[in-house]
Amino acid sequence: MALTGIQILKMLPKKNCGECDIPTCLAFAMKVAAGQAEIEACPYVSDEAKATIGEASAPPIRTIKIGTGDAQFTAGGETCQFRHEKRFENQTGLAVLIATDEDAASIDGKIKRANDFVYERVGVMMRNNLVAIKDKGGASLADMAKKVMEGAPQQAIILMSDNVENLKAGAEACGDNKPLLYGATGENADAFAGLAQDTGCAIGVKGKNLDDLVETADKLIAAGVKDMVIDTGARTLKGAFEDNVVARRAAVKDKFKALGFPTIAFPCEMCDDLMMEAMIGSVLIAKYAGITVFSDLQGDILFPLLLEQLNIFTDPQRPMVVAEDIYPVTGPDENSPVLITCNFSLTYFIVSGEIEGSKVPSWLLIKDTEGLSVLTAWAAGKFGADLIAMFVNKSGILDKVKHRELIIPGYLATIKGELEEELPDWTITIGPREAGHLPAFLKEWKPAA
Ligand code: SF4
Repeated sequence: MALTGIQILKMLPKKNCGECDIPTCLAFAMKVAAGQAEIEACPYVSDEAKATIGEASAPPIRTIKIGTGDAQFTAGGETCQFRHEKRFENQTGLAVLIATDEDAASIDGKIKRANDFVYERVGVMMRNNLVAIKDKGGASLADMAKKVMEGAPQQAIILMSDNVENLKAGAEACGDNKPLLYGATGENADAFAGLAQDTGCAIGVKGKNLDDLVETADKLIAAGVKDMVIDTGARTLKGAFEDNVVARRAAVKDKFKALGFPTIAFPCEMCDDLMMEAMIGSVLIAKYAGITVFSDLQGDILFPLLLEQLNIFTDPQRPMVVAEDIYPVTGPDENSPVLITCNFSLTYFIVSGEIEGSKVPSWLLIKDTEGLSVLTAWAAGKFGADLIAMFVNKSGILDKVKHRELIIPGYLATIKGELEEELPDWTITIGPREAGHLPAFLKEWKPAA
């Protein structure tokens, strides 16, 4: 049962020292209760209180880690049903399925794509996160796991088999890169509980349906298994969608322990068409899948799924930002134009993209506006003439160019006069309102006499 702020306050030392970076114990307690601060931030709280508060404030969907280092994938940790209530914590994992009896060229192609396909978007590097290896005879799980780790070292691994010994050998071959071991059912739950204990790996639990899954998960919890990923057994979009919604609601609203784990879904087993798999996957990313498994991940399928992930799992309360700095675009020199804009990621990437497209080397000054766009930042007092002038003077741009001309966004035309007063040595030029007009503008640009 979640604790209230007042209940947490009673367990704090009440020194009001601010060492937790929050001025008072009451405010800290409220933040811990809201899941916005960790109890560990207070150095004076007793271990006993830490354990009590930590347990009570643990997310209703358990956080599960698969793999290690660069290959580590985190699932779960979710605390809400709807993104606007707080935010979704950990992106849905996108896994590509390799069967051990698949032909060599197909396996090599999947591993290569899992390693090579990395996309950059608004400063975020995006790729798929997992390779699922299914035991179907042919190569052993252990050999295939080694091959995947060699060819795509940034991928976490899922091993799938009914054979506990094969899974154990596979887990040993993975070493520290602990895989998810999938395939616990009501029938083999005891053996999988032993496997979890021996290997320290998370277990994938498969139900025949939601009720059967709950029964098996309860059995594993009673046997001491803590880290699980759950599969309701649904193999239609409608079934998987409904089960995911029911599971999330039961875990978040009713704190129902047996469903308090990230889910795994298999679009690869729901149809024979890659494009349809991607569409099913996109629905399940939106509605609560912790991991989705696809029969292949070609670029045309992977990229849109990654974009969807980025949109859904971005914190809606925190704008994406780039650091305040001077950004050289396509190798500018001392005669190159100097432009300024805000640090909202999307603005930065659109403006720098247009400058790049213009092929006019330029200096782009990015002023910290706390992620607000140009006009909003100006209206909020974060992109006024005085602040821009202060930033320009301390940014170091004076040492990089011979001229003194600053191009401001067209939307800030009204502050031109003020800016001229704040930066008397500079010529202030009003740039275009829309980034799309920058190439034409820059091609015509000459330093003011
Ligand atoms: Fe209170 Fe602990 Fe924060 Fe100090 S560090 S204000 S004692 S919660």
